[in-house]
Amino acid sequence: MTSTPARKGVAVLGSTGSIGTTALRVLERQRSLFQVIALTANSNAALLREQARQFAPAFVGMVESADAGESWSSGTASLIEAATRSDVDIVINAIVGAAGLDATLAALEAGKRVALANKETLVIAGELVRKATEHGRGELVPIDSEHSAILQCITGRSRAEVRRVVLTASGGPFRGWSPERLATATVEDALRHPTWRMGRKNTIDSATLANKALEVIEAHVLFDLPFDAIDVVVHPQSVVHSFVEFIDGSVIAQMSVPTMELPVLYALTHPERVADDSLAPFDPVKVSPLTYEPVDHASFPALRLGVAAGKAGGAAPAVFNAANERAVAAFLDGRIGFGDIPRGISSALDRLSGMKSDTREQLLEADRAARCHVSEMFKC
Ligand code: NAD
Ligand code: MG
Repeated sequence: MTSTPARKGVAVLGSTGSIGTTALRVLERQRSLFQVIALTANSNAALLREQARQFAPAFVGMVESADAGESWSSGTASLIEAATRSDVDIVINAIVGAAGLDATLAALEAGKRVALANKETLVIAGELVRKATEHGRGELVPIDSEHSAILQCITGRSRAEVRRVVLTASGGPFRGWSPERLATATVEDALRHPTWRMGRKNTIDSATLANKALEVIEAHVLFDLPFDAIDVVVHPQSVVHSFVEFIDGSVIAQMSVPTMELPVLYALTHPERVADDSLAPFDPVKVSPLTYEPVDHASFPALRLGVAAGKAGGAAPAVFNAANERAVAAFLDGRIGFGDIPRGISSALDRLSGMKSDTREQLLEADRAARCHVSEMFKC
């Protein structure tokens, strides 16, 4: 008689967001392998309640405002509790922004697998995350599609065989726009992403290419690659999710039609694959032609600013991330223009890159200073 293996327990942090709801669709299909143990969100109580009814998790957390009449946990402590429960094996971190950092660190210290969408965590505190992974014997697996692609290409190979990676970028809604035209871009224009449906912050990051800068730093931390071994190419169709070039010159890429369900599922099952037939058979003719072009750095300065911050190290990546978060929020509120986002980032980096960065507290201090700098610069 064969016994069925126990299902893995999963916590979904940020369950009401774009990645969170995508993850729950995957988990619904894979109920025989995974059990949803915990759900947390920061807003949209109605959706959280519906998710709680569907999955009957043991733990529900609403960070900002616990709903009267619900027995939900609240506050940031609820994220840590969800991420470290003994019945949780895998933590899907789908929180947006710096708010995701502590839960990632706590889960890794507690020896969990962290399926990480929250790339900001790695940008702010790559070294602390590495230490927490080692110390707690946790495991970090990316959900970001480019990094999932790289992981899928290198699994089973040694790091020494990898020469270089090339991250693909859709180019966002403003591909081909001149700097002059970009100065007139509205919030509505920026939210109209050609290939991906995502949360608002990530969508603006894709329009400025700050997202790709975050991803270059993410690749540096995840795969221990020097910055000059990480390149970016614009690929408007978002079918090739990244390339890996090996030391013999061979290049392996991973492809699929654009969907985050595949990288979410792979982050749960890596290094194995499980059957999931929700995607139509891949048709190379249907997705053709696939095209590539260089990044227009004059129109999208945020990419170079972020990569330079990554290379500088120390507090600079945290400053880049926080200045960007603050500027994006101000842009979404209609308080600053599109071109002000990289201007705010650049100014914060000039002023604050030298701040101390050895501890979590020092990094959060740099984060706070960068947000204040941008607020004061634009009086927003
Ligand atoms: P989203 O805005 O749609 O969802 C964010 C989720 O986090 C929501 O559930 C929200 O309630 C919760 N949240 C927000 N602020 C919080 C706080 N202070 N404390 C706790 N929870 C909070 O965002 P998204 O598009 O799903 O992106 C989530 C993360 O995944 C981001 O880091 C993003 O860069 C990354 N990512 C997203 C995509 C995508 O396709 N959406 C792709 C790759 C990576
Ligand atoms: Mg990505």
